[in-house]
Amino acid sequence: MAFPKHSPYVIIGAGIHGLSTAYHLAEELKRTKRGSGADIIILDKSGIAAGATGIACGVVRNNYFQPAMRELMAHSVSVWESDPKAYSYHPVGYMQISCEVMHKDVASIYDQQKAIGYESVFIEGEKDCMNYMKGIFHDWQAQNITSVLHEKRGGYANNTKAMYGLTTKVEEAGVRIITGVEVNGFVSANDGSITAVETSRGTIACDYVVIGAGPWVGNFWDMLELPKTVSIKNPETGAITDGVPMWTYWSLQEGTLGVDPDLQKTNDGKMPPVIHVDTDAPLLSDVDGSLITDKLWGNYYKPDFHFGGIQGGAAPFVIDKPYDEVKVDPYGPESPDFVVGHEFAHMWVSSLAHCQKRFSGQMARYKNEPSGGIGAFTPDSFPVFDVYRKNCYIIADSNHGYKMLGVGKLVAEEICSSSKNRLLEPFRFSRYAEGKLHPVSNSPFPWS
Ligand SMILES: Cc1cc2nc3c(=O)[nH]c(=O)nc-3n(C[C@H](O)[C@H](O)[C@H](O)COP(=O)(O)OP(=O)(O)OC[C@H]3O[C@@H](n4cnc5c(N)ncnc54)[C@H](O)[C@@H]3O)c2cc1C
Repeated sequence: MAFPKHSPYVIIGAGIHGLSTAYHLAEELKRTKRGSGADIIILDKSGIAAGATGIACGVVRNNYFQPAMRELMAHSVSVWESDPKAYSYHPVGYMQISCEVMHKDVASIYDQQKAIGYESVFIEGEKDCMNYMKGIFHDWQAQNITSVLHEKRGGYANNTKAMYGLTTKVEEAGVRIITGVEVNGFVSANDGSITAVETSRGTIACDYVVIGAGPWVGNFWDMLELPKTVSIKNPETGAITDGVPMWTYWSLQEGTLGVDPDLQKTNDGKMPPVIHVDTDAPLLSDVDGSLITDKLWGNYYKPDFHFGGIQGGAAPFVIDKPYDEVKVDPYGPESPDFVVGHEFAHMWVSSLAHCQKRFSGQMARYKNEPSGGIGAFTPDSFPVFDVYRKNCYIIADSNHGYKMLGVGKLVAEEICSSSKNRLLEPFRFSRYAEGKLHPVSNSPFPWS
């Protein structure tokens, strides 16, 4: 098939957001009798799920301290639930297990989950939490835990497998996916709107562009000549902080313990919920008993046959460089700079042993293969979903958006209508200047 010279809709990036937007846009165009999937192409410089989507842990949860995030996640969980087979989705639930410093925050999450009808159970007090956890895992032993939020919905999806399922839907809807094509610029009209996309294989005239570029968002930000820094208004005092970098890279720390995933089955032989623990109990080495940290630490983990063991991670760290100096390519496990090392393995496996006795003495089973990857975070670490230059939608999820499968559906609906979507409104770029920021929790993670 010839390389296209024109396409009404060009979507850049075949990750979760590009694919989800394409599928739902095709549906929406058909529903509104404005066109079909044949009006859409997806371009990717590498391949399907070649970016963050293909290396994500795949955890799908609702546990967010920010009301707007919770509502958006509830919507996305419904999309995951709409076709668990195609999306390779495991609805095992999710547990946020926390120490006292997070108790109040998590209690408010529970209250607001109840208010939006999102099913969860909340346990409080050290003794009751221990009993609840031992009722699920007989060897539970994590210390200083005073609240457990057990979300009955959510769980995880197999990262690439889910995208292959979504790709089938996209192609069946008539969308053309062209891989191995790099976008390197835009042609603009006098009013700034985009009239064409310049690629490594030629120029494609278009009416509308959607960018779902994950960790490469900074490149597109620069191509569109958007500001490298933003001014942020303090919502309480009104004071303005200028010069805040628009993008900051964080390195995500993840790995796999190469044991039989069945090792993590519950007392009644079922696959367990995803576990996420944040505690201030001293973390001791499972190898020699030395102190790893006495500060607040966190981990998350799940049994995963796709990864071949117990897969999960710990808190990420900031890459202390301007975003345009960070080498994003080669990405993920191929990166010479941003893969996890021995220090992570030691901390994370020790943290598993802190939580459950079954993981004690298993350090040698840690899979010493490159893992982890970097993500581009926004100034407040929450997504920016917005339209620039009149006809260019950027979906920038601040690197916690694998779970946000439903965002593409909302974006597609916005593109096809003149009204703004209530769930997306709290994530506009203008919130920084307007001081409409999301509340900040006590979690050690930048995405809670
Ligand atoms: C290690 C790790 C674990 C994670 N775990 C989770 C998790 O458990 N749950 C969760 O919700 N989120 C998780 N995330 C975050 C999540 O993976 C990302 O937020 C999400 O996948 C981003 O999707 P995307 O479609 O925006 O980008 P990507 O999946 O990165 O896709 C972007 C695509 O754009 C293409 N591209 C880039 N530049 C160009 C160009 N110039 N021309 C053409 N194509 C281009 C790339 O090849 C790529 O395929 C994790 C992230 C990492 C790194």
